[in-house]
Amino acid sequence: MRLILLSLLLSVSTTLVLAQAEKDRFSNPALRKTADSLAQNAILIDGHVDLPYRLKVQNFRYTKEFLGLPLESEDGDFDYKRAREGGLDAPFMSIYIPADLQGPQKYGGAALADSLIDMVTAIAAENDEFAIATHPDSVRAQFARGVMSLPMGMENGAPLAYPEDVEHFADRGIRYVTLTHSKDNQICDSSYDTTRTWGGLSPYGSLILQELVDHKIMIDISHVSDSTFFQVLRRVDVPVIASHSSLRYFTPDFERNMNDEMVKALGENGGVVMINFGSTFLDSAVVNKRNALRSTVTEIVEARGYTLGTPEADAVIDSVTSSNTGIFADIEIVADHIERAVELAGIDHVGIGSDYDGVGDSLPTGLKDVSDYPNLWYVLLERGFTPEDVKKVMGENLLRVWSEVEKG
Ligand SMILES: [Zn+2]
Repeated sequence: MRLILLSLLLSVSTTLVLAQAEKDRFSNPALRKTADSLAQNAILIDGHVDLPYRLKVQNFRYTKEFLGLPLESEDGDFDYKRAREGGLDAPFMSIYIPADLQGPQKYGGAALADSLIDMVTAIAAENDEFAIATHPDSVRAQFARGVMSLPMGMENGAPLAYPEDVEHFADRGIRYVTLTHSKDNQICDSSYDTTRTWGGLSPYGSLILQELVDHKIMIDISHVSDSTFFQVLRRVDVPVIASHSSLRYFTPDFERNMNDEMVKALGENGGVVMINFGSTFLDSAVVNKRNALRSTVTEIVEARGYTLGTPEADAVIDSVTSSNTGIFADIEIVADHIERAVELAGIDHVGIGSDYDGVGDSLPTGLKDVSDYPNLWYVLLERGFTPEDVKKVMGENLLRVWSEVEKG
């Protein structure tokens, strides 16, 4: 889940204009055939999909109608039908805990975590199309049966108020924990928080790392500060993941992404960096453009005395954004991130963590929702990746790390 205001300000109209231009792309018959074949025959794992929190915001209820909502929907970036088209086999469902639930002791949110886990569990229980996955072998077995796996990762370790909470959430099916989110918590410092409460990991955080290793839960270093990242790598001897991070090389001022030294270190650790698709994670030029447009829209809306979210304000947003290009990154830039990560860390250490349903309308052209993953395999093949390389990026690398963490 990426904190953005811009999604409130940018309309979908530009997306529609661009959609037409995309029709002719990705149409080389040989590449298309190989890309589509990979999509349907290799295991695709996405490290981070924010469906549970989106459904919560949409007032998800345990009724027949709502339980079927993830199957086919007009809303959001994910539903079963589109995910099947995209060849998605195991999206990690993000159990996202906003930092404002942490409270003064800097932990909290356990009740929300449990309720989001209840939601994912109910969706899997009520729909034969889905099944929970708590082990890499279940992902492979369910893939063989044509069932989509829903593994779960907890985004923010704030609910781990006591060491024994790790066992509780392990028992409930959590298989990775993102150590923190947008604020420092009881475990470590966040990349978004300039307070730097602990200078990296807290003493309690070191204890929690060992609990996570002991309970075979993967450690996710997306969102943490650089100091936290390097301290984690020194403390543990299991491979760790970045479930949804991109490369700072392309976004120099954005500490939320990983710099080259970190990507190399993650490769040496045996882990995997899973590239985030949000435009603001991908391209500084897009970030600057969106910031400038946001200022323009805010000025006009304020000058006219409109309120955001009203039809009058929406019309302003529409007129400003529809006449502007460059507010979305492109799928080619996602491939640039993957290529550079491969150069730095090696082909065995790169994956994808789209952040679908978590980055608003900032998704790149060519990767607008879960039906579009095959376009990315197409672009990678076009750049000379072999089908075996693409399979590693699609899911085999993450499955290897998960298996190693399982073995302990
Ligand atoms: Zn996130």
